[in-house]
Amino acid sequence: MDLQQIIDESSRIVFFGGAGVSTESGIPDFRSVDGLYHQHYDVPPEELLSRTYFNRHPEAFFRFYRDKMLPLNAQPNAAHRKLAELEQAGRLTAVVTQNIDGLHQKAGSKKVYELHGSVLRNYCMRCHESYTAEEIVAMDGVPKCECGGTIKPDVVLYEEMLDDQVISGAIHAIEKADMMIVGGTSLVVYPAAGMIRYFRGKHLVVINMSATQADRQADLVINDSIGEVLGAAMGI
Ligand code: ZN
Repeated sequence: MDLQQIIDESSRIVFFGGAGVSTESGIPDFRSVDGLYHQHYDVPPEELLSRTYFNRHPEAFFRFYRDKMLPLNAQPNAAHRKLAELEQAGRLTAVVTQNIDGLHQKAGSKKVYELHGSVLRNYCMRCHESYTAEEIVAMDGVPKCECGGTIKPDVVLYEEMLDDQVISGAIHAIEKADMMIVGGTSLVVYPAAGMIRYFRGKHLVVINMSATQADRQADLVINDSIGEVLGAAMGI
């Protein structure tokens, strides 16, 4: 069966996506060769984006964060748009993403489980007042709440736990799915990548530029651009 046939006979599709979905919107992949790890910073991004570093060096954290992590002008690509269309048509039940850029929602998706949080949500660590990404960009240095507390992006930093409710919602959607599309991820980031184990449906499809750990279990593996492949599918 090809991708179109599988989509046509599925009604509870779950999409599980990673950095590759966003790189086609111009957002760098932290782990790729030309991603953030290979750009020149005094401290490797893995350390910069840790909770320890955030606590100890908030000025440097936010310098990096504003420079690299807030792509507010990025636009959804064909993959984001197709997934939103499939949801609107009642064929796709959820998007589970490792990305933090909010592009699925920008494309119109409603049910999105953001395993690593979102740069679009920020909150005061003292009084829990929420702030938009635009407000964070407009502030200098370490963003501060009116109450004096530090504002933290609602993203899961290294050393931090994933949100229990997000995880259980994602697992539930995957367990109920009849088709799972894994796209734009090589499935190396745990625990997020382990979620594929909960899939018990009929068709597992992998769309990624390179080989993944899920290829052996998959009905269909497509090594190509996620935007082009999903964009070309009729879907509805
Ligand atoms: Zn506050």
